[in-house]
Amino acid sequence: MAEVKVNEIIGLLKKNYLNVKIALEYSNPLELLIATILSAQSTDKQINKVTKTLFKKYRTPQDYVNVSQEEFEKDIYSTGFYRNKAKNIKNLCEILVNDFNSKVPYTMEELVTLPGVARKTANIVLAGAFGKNEGIAVDTHVRRVAARLGLTANTDPDKIEKDLMKIVPREEWDVFALRLIQHGREICIAKKPKCELCFLNKVCPSAFTFG
Ligand code: SF4
Repeated sequence: MAEVKVNEIIGLLKKNYLNVKIALEYSNPLELLIATILSAQSTDKQINKVTKTLFKKYRTPQDYVNVSQEEFEKDIYSTGFYRNKAKNIKNLCEILVNDFNSKVPYTMEELVTLPGVARKTANIVLAGAFGKNEGIAVDTHVRRVAARLGLTANTDPDKIEKDLMKIVPREEWDVFALRLIQHGREICIAKKPKCELCFLNKVCPSAFTFG
């Protein structure tokens, strides 16, 4: 992969999506952690709708521990996969209460020990709530767009993340993921990417290859 192309891609993404920010709404690390877990297989818009009332009802890890599984499932029903999400969030909050003094830990090592938390979620929480760039959150958009742009040949999220960490300056890891997500949502969409409108179409190895 030519160095110049990579730098050009990173530069163009930055220029076109200068002020990106996370779409999930939160006001503290716990809220970001819960919102990120809930966002799996859902949309940020839907999650923001749910958390608007959820975060008024549940303010501390203990609040999530105290509620019954059934009641909590009802509260998050519309986010999909609500049974698993409810179970994970309740278990996770119990661990926060027992082992972390009811605080969200701020290291990758500790975060990934929590139920339902893999590197993607941990990266989002570390960057969004603690300002720490420990890695690059690889979601479905990041995976697809990075592959189309030739930034990775891997399909495993952890390997994709490593590939991207090598080519993107560390201080931009979080915004780089957000830029790929925005590009994936607006231009490089899954089914039929809008290559004719894409500012990357001169440097993208996949440009105009979709019938
Ligand atoms: S040129 Fe096409 S495939 Fe490449 S990033 Fe742009 S929209 Fe995606």
